Amino acid sequence: MKTIKLYDLDSMLSEFECTVLSCEQCDRNYKIVLDKTAFFPEGGGQTCDTGAIGNTNVIDVQEIDGEIYHFTDKPLNVGQTYTAHLNFEQRFDKMQNHSGEHIVSGIISNKFGYQNVGFHLSDSVVTCDFDGTLTRADLDEIELLANKVVWSNVKLNTYYPDAEQLKNISYRSKLEFESNLRLVEIEGVDTCACCAPHVKTTGQIGAIKLLQHEKNKSGVRIYLKCGMRAIADYQNKYNNVAEISALLCAKQDETAQGVNALLQEKEKLKYEITGLKRQIIDFKLQTCETTDGNIYIIDKDLSTDDMRYFANNMVTRCNVFGVFCAKENGFSYICASGQTNMREFGKSLNAALNGKGGGSDKMIQGSVICDKEQIEKFFSGKY
Ligand SMILES: [Zn+2]
Repeated sequence: MKTIKLYDLDSMLSEFECTVLSCEQCDRNYKIVLDKTAFFPEGGGQTCDTGAIGNTNVIDVQEIDGEIYHFTDKPLNVGQTYTAHLNFEQRFDKMQNHSGEHIVSGIISNKFGYQNVGFHLSDSVVTCDFDGTLTRADLDEIELLANKVVWSNVKLNTYYPDAEQLKNISYRSKLEFESNLRLVEIEGVDTCACCAPHVKTTGQIGAIKLLQHEKNKSGVRIYLKCGMRAIADYQNKYNNVAEISALLCAKQDETAQGVNALLQEKEKLKYEITGLKRQIIDFKLQTCETTDGNIYIIDKDLSTDDMRYFANNMVTRCNVFGVFCAKENGFSYICASGQTNMREFGKSLNAALNGKGGGSDKMIQGSVICDKEQIEKFFSGKY
């Protein structure tokens, strides 16, 4: 049974009449073969079309050993003719992005000699992989050239050339085709072997936007959005920038500078706060006694660096010095000594105060789950 591929004949066809040739149950779905179909099966990096045949939903379409199978949620009568509909907005969106990709890949091949070695088109993301590297400046130039092709509104022709015709055509291809090669020609721009449906003229693509790029093996992966997706992306980013612009009281095209100034200001304030906190710690250090016994301090809002600064300055002024910083559900701590083995001290501290942590013979660090009174009891030797 060979299904006639209506999507090959007219890519803009969204509704068609078809007769069911076979219907088999498989797992929870039904597997249906039609005499003709406008549903494009998954292939060539593009996901399949969805829609309905009569009142059954087409969930998946796959080409297996040359046969096109429509997977539906309900069975259909063999021999009966039905009206079928594609989710055409979804199909048109994929055609805009796939045709846009051909233009971009054609330009990159002509201008840089790099080949498209990977293509993925899902309902949300389009990526193209090339076997050479490109800079952001290159991408901006390619994007402009690609959009000029859109504005020229040139025709896309799809056809199956015979062996004789093929000898005189140069085309891009990822695979070696032996027979049934289908070419997609964008007049004057690109010819590429491809099985998917495409827009009829480049004007239908609307817009081509190249987004981020990243290293991929020895080449580059480019993310792109065309047509409706490019507009939705622009709307989303416009709203985002407008909000940042209002928050910063900066012009929309100067938001990056505004954020940079804010980050620098934040760093300056962080530096000032650190200095002020050190002054407070130095003041507290002055009030600490010097003793042969152990000393502990309980504080709050101390960084690990602050706690270490405390410990380093107190270690010569007592036997064991401990600094505890209040946090949710207990305290973090650093304890140090020039005389006592802190590993051993840490074991009894953790056991007594429900703690965990460790370190060197001279300094330990960790956290405890207990209250102030328990810390006081531990340091006064009552455990
Ligand atoms: Zn293609």
